Order: sequence, then C-alpha cells, then structure tokens
Amino acid sequence: MDRDGKTPAPQRLIANPTAQLIADVLAAVDSSIHTKWCDGLDDLHLPRVTANGLSVPIVRVSWNKVDEFFERLFGVANDRYFANQLPRCRRVWNRRFRGLAGRIECRSKTIELSSAHYEQCGIGAMGIVLVHEMIHLALFTERLPHGHTGEFKRRSYSLGLPRIYHELPLPNRLVRPKRYVYACTCGLQVESKIRFRAPRACATCCRKFNRGRFDRRFRLFLVEDRQQAG
Ligand SMILES: [Zn+2]
Ligand SMILES: [Zn+2]
Repeated sequence: MDRDGKTPAPQRLIANPTAQLIADVLAAVDSSIHTKWCDGLDDLHLPRVTANGLSVPIVRVSWNKVDEFFERLFGVANDRYFANQLPRCRRVWNRRFRGLAGRIECRSKTIELSSAHYEQCGIGAMGIVLVHEMIHLALFTERLPHGHTGEFKRRSYSLGLPRIYHELPLPNRLVRPKRYVYACTCGLQVESKIRFRAPRACATCCRKFNRGRFDRRFRLFLVEDRQQAG
C-alpha cells in the first residue's frame, strides 16, 4: 500500500538491488518516472549512463519532486541496507562540482550532490551516488576507516555497485567554455576558449579584400571576456 493513498505502480523485479531500491522509491514519488526507469533498465537503446559500474537509464524527475525522491531514498536505503543505523543528514546541492558527483562530510553529516551531474545524468545515477555516500557514513558510524577501503568495496559490491568511482560524464556545461569573443569590423564574431596570443584576422574579410592573406585592417579584436562564473 502506498502511504499517500496513490495507486501503487505495478511491481517489477529487478536483478540489481540498488536499481530495485531506486525503482521502489520512484514508484512512491512518481509512477510515470518509475515506469520510465524500469523500461530503461530493460531497453539498452535508451539514453543511459554508468554510475559506479551500474548502467542505468537517464531519467529526470521534475525539480519539485527531486527533494522528495532523495528524502525517501535515504530513508528506504537506511532501512533496507543499514538497519536504520545511519543518522539523518543534511543534503545540499553543489553547483560547482566538476569531477565530483557527490561528497559526504561524515562529522557534520552533510551530503553534497552535484546539481550539474543530476541535470546531465538523471535521478538514478544520483541515487546511486547517494547510496555510495551512505556506505561511507555507515563505516564512519561503525568507527571503521571510512575511505574506499577493502570493506567499502565489499559493501558497495554487495549493493550492486561494483565500482567505487562514479565515472559519470562531466556535465556539458562544465566543459571548458568559450570564454573569449572576438569580432571583426564586418560584424563577424569568433568564440574562443583561449585568448589569442598572436593577432588573428577575419578570414572572410581577408579573403574578400586581400586574396586570403593576413591583413592587419581586419584584425579580430576582443569584444567580450565571459569571466567563468564561480
Ligand atoms: Zn566515495
Ligand atoms: Zn570581417
């Protein structure tokens, strides 16, 4: 029975325990996303990512349900995997993570998740990242070394996550941006990741007025430096 009195989504059995865990939580949060998730697990042609060695479909939940998803996921995982021994954690989004998809600070009980990775990789991948962080917390709670130890790997494996690194693709918007914008007097603009060291000229104008040879008159000048947002 669903706690909120919603129609429970049809049960589907999934071989991987963490994929099943996420399915169960999605069933309670959003039944259409639950169906998408289960279909995606079966259909290898749908867009997917591999998180901690588990290949999952990319499905997104609307932002107003994302918090509910992680809240419930933490609760169900705590119950199912950790005998409810894990303390409540503060969960925050970090917009600046690059390689990191998630991080836990066990002492302050803070879990940070990368919002950019969520946008790119979807709810399931980030659910896996959350479970990964919870393993760190479990070891910490048991006063064991809580890094990626042999015991960590054993537990991760037993939860269906064979790899300790998330290996998620770097979010598109974190790929080095074209920061510099150059322009020619003709109106043509050129975007560049790097600042030009030697003068460059507008190819169109040089072709048109100087038989394609470099001409100082058509030097590209810097019109914008999109300082990378912190
Ligand atoms: Zn870790
Ligand atoms: Zn030009």
